[in-house]
Amino acid sequence: MNIVDGKDIETRLESAPKPERSRVREVLGRARELKGLSDPDVLTLLATQDPELVQECFDAARWAKREIYGNRIVYFAPLYISNLCGNDCPYCAFREANRSLPRRALSQDEIRKETEELIDQGHKRVLMVSGEDYPEGGLGYIFKSIRTVYSVRKSHGNIRRVNVNIAPLSVEEFRALKAEDIGTYQCFQETYHEPTYSRLHRKGSKADYRNRLEVMDRALEAGINDVGIGVLFGLSDWRFEVLAMLAHIRHLEERFGVGPHTISVPRLEPALGSPLSRNPPHAVSDQDFLKIIAVLRLAVPYTGMILSTREGVAIRRAALELGISQISAGSRTDPGGYAAGDQSESGQFSVGDSRPLREVVEDVLDQGHIPSFCTGCYRLGRVGKDFMDLAKPGLIKAHCLPNALLTFAEYLCDFGGPGLSKKGFAAIDRMIETDVPGPVRTKVRGLLERVRSGERDIYL
Ligand code: SAM
Ligand code: SF4
Repeated sequence: MNIVDGKDIETRLESAPKPERSRVREVLGRARELKGLSDPDVLTLLATQDPELVQECFDAARWAKREIYGNRIVYFAPLYISNLCGNDCPYCAFREANRSLPRRALSQDEIRKETEELIDQGHKRVLMVSGEDYPEGGLGYIFKSIRTVYSVRKSHGNIRRVNVNIAPLSVEEFRALKAEDIGTYQCFQETYHEPTYSRLHRKGSKADYRNRLEVMDRALEAGINDVGIGVLFGLSDWRFEVLAMLAHIRHLEERFGVGPHTISVPRLEPALGSPLSRNPPHAVSDQDFLKIIAVLRLAVPYTGMILSTREGVAIRRAALELGISQISAGSRTDPGGYAAGDQSESGQFSVGDSRPLREVVEDVLDQGHIPSFCTGCYRLGRVGKDFMDLAKPGLIKAHCLPNALLTFAEYLCDFGGPGLSKKGFAAIDRMIETDVPGPVRTKVRGLLERVRSGERDIYL
């Protein structure tokens, strides 16, 4: 399989002419048709540096984001269960050679406690994360941990969707993972630039570039419906990474009829005992980072985009406008971090936004977005290609927006307190009038009343 032709991408980047203004505007016009962009079009946007044209690119991305996703922002929290790892990625605090990190794999009881903490904060969706060395019977530890998370029930509810970010598996192993009822399988390529990848990953299972590149093929072959890809920005030239990631997406679409459910855009952050993380070889500026998000939004308008708390508050606010559809909040990146309270020194990397979930919810609401805790599509089986078929004609607004409003109403009733609840319910009322399509409006009002009188977990 030749998923990414690195040489070809390099040649195209080297020979790309400085784009004419008219050409950039022509591409942006095409982007507004919401059918995605070809590689030459993406190259044009990536090469655009004129501030006025970059602003026009941002305007188009902002418009596309609203057009497809409305103003919903979906929330999740990472759940780090183990920092044991046999690999040696020089950017990560969990790497085997980092002797300054206290090692810990949570027991099932500790995972239960972490889950309770997350439920008490209002979370409904977690991303389980682990280093690549599993205690207690290998992969079985992950399976057991997923079951533990799903089993926890509190008066304020439960975790309704567990996504996982773990090392690449075989087709057989993916079949077993699917049986655990996961949401999305997520794995980042780190860098698509093979020589850079090989230089940075010399040891352990991660040394095999192809094994990682082909992981989503194996996951989809095994019947995992939603997969999430990503690049760790800062390791190699970001323009190369964007084009390579789009080639990866195209490959999956051609082979399986559906691309990834989400794209993550982690940027290298300082990590304990990892000098490279403090000195990224290809540091991405804030402006370029926002451009990456805007260009991806236009290139693959229907693919969800995830931003974590690696980024600081100002960048997170700007990125939401330009294309991000899912964010984490109140995150701890060390196993046991939620029960312990404060973010410890021994997290996977330093967190840029350390505000608690409630504060982020209020800030995002004040910015004009609707916080969503929805997991409805996944539980109704609207996943993979079915989800994309639903999303593409814009029906997302008829399903996802009402579900976002209902889950936000749940959050307000259970965790909001008087001030936030007043503001939140006013926004919900406004949205029902202005954005929920006429035929479902009365139904949504009825469901909202049921939530207000104590019913939970209602979705369309
Ligand atoms: N160990 C598995 C792996 O490597 O795929 C999964 C978990 S790993 C903890 C999750 C991701 O964290 C990695 O894929 C990498 O992109 C990201 N990461 C590692 N070090 C980082 C750093 N210093 N800053 C930001 N993200 C980092
Ligand atoms: Fe281990 Fe993953 Fe960190 Fe690499 S990125 S050292 S594989 S936890």
